[in-house]
Amino acid sequence: MLGHAYLVHGPEAVGKTTLVLRLASYLVCSGSQPRPCGVCRGCRQVGRGGHPDVRLIERASERRDITIEQVRQVEELVALAPTEAPAKLICIAGADTLNDAAASALLKTLEEPPPRVTLVLTAVDPVSLPITIRSRCQLLALQPVAAQTLAEGLVAGYAVDPPRAQELAALARGRPGWAIRALEEPNLVEKQRESLAVMRSLAENGHYRRLQAVDAWLGKGTFLESRERALGFCVLLETWWRDALLLSQAGAAPMLRGQVVGSGEMPACGPAEITGFLPRIQETAARVAANVNPRLALEHLVLVMPRAGTGPHGR
Ligand SMILES: [Zn+2]
Repeated sequence: MLGHAYLVHGPEAVGKTTLVLRLASYLVCSGSQPRPCGVCRGCRQVGRGGHPDVRLIERASERRDITIEQVRQVEELVALAPTEAPAKLICIAGADTLNDAAASALLKTLEEPPPRVTLVLTAVDPVSLPITIRSRCQLLALQPVAAQTLAEGLVAGYAVDPPRAQELAALARGRPGWAIRALEEPNLVEKQRESLAVMRSLAENGHYRRLQAVDAWLGKGTFLESRERALGFCVLLETWWRDALLLSQAGAAPMLRGQVVGSGEMPACGPAEITGFLPRIQETAARVAANVNPRLALEHLVLVMPRAGTGPHGR
């Protein structure tokens, strides 16, 4: 039996929505044990996104937030009895993008949980949700998957060659969803490599080049586009510096070498300098998410970033 409300949280593409859809299949499955069977009508409907008692609500791609109109849809849905399954499951994916009005409306539903309905919220960072919402949900944390486990899963479940599976697992940073997407879109791997190479050269360059790189990264988009790109920048920069930190400690993570941080010299700065800088990246991401000017935030960040590498230090 499922509870009234859950909050599934964990990094981007770690498998939050996949887990929710498994829960949904479990709920509606009419096949034989172990459930979900994956082949009965209910399971197949969930797989296609067409089950009448299962609904996934998320931010529209052209919007910055989940709107109150979307939460009203949830209210309408929960007011009706389930049609086929013993209960309804409604997932609000990316609940950290609920706007204030939408969050308040959702809170009403959470305060008076309707019978035979399970609400599941997903979010990268649970702290970004109002505490009034968070406190009414059971929290489920999804951790990044170890690279070895992920590589084995790609070999067993997706018939990927072991060497390629190792490579994808290293680049996926514990996110199975990313690795599976990369199987379908091979240019994701190339893009990830290129992006990390940008982070490397940023770390090695001086102030002037860093500011140029931020300018090139953000391009000429709208505020919303800049915000998305700036958040992506923070994720990559953190990935790169975390790898650099591992590599700066003896004997760690041979899989990373040459793939992520890039071949060649270790960062010249020490672990203490890196651990001091990592929180700055997170702070910057939080400020960008809170609508600080993305360009100013990134410019400030790269100016306080430690200098890596032993090459000639240009401007
Ligand atoms: Zn089934």
